[in-house]
Amino acid sequence: MISCKDIADTILDYLEDELDPERRARLEVHLNRCPPCINFLKTYQKVTTVSRKVLKDKAPPALFGRVMDFLREELDAASPHTKQERRGEGT
Ligand SMILES: [Zn+2]
Repeated sequence: MISCKDIADTILDYLEDELDPERRARLEVHLNRCPPCINFLKTYQKVTTVSRKVLKDKAPPALFGRVMDFLREELDAASPHTKQERRGEGT
């Protein structure tokens, strides 16, 4: 069973369609049961779609990759899942 943290870690690969079918299926099972993760996915999707549209024509691939990394960090930091995981750590 995958956790919310796994969703946050793999969501970009999921949206880029880079996950293998098994991992993708497990991720979708989790999404079906976890409304917060669906919200997270929708937010991520919106941000990545908009940035791609804006950057595609004008930005070189290297810059696009850096912007995506930045967005991933920002969104991970904003995710409630990340905070939940941190609270449980260290025991
Ligand atoms: Zn979840």
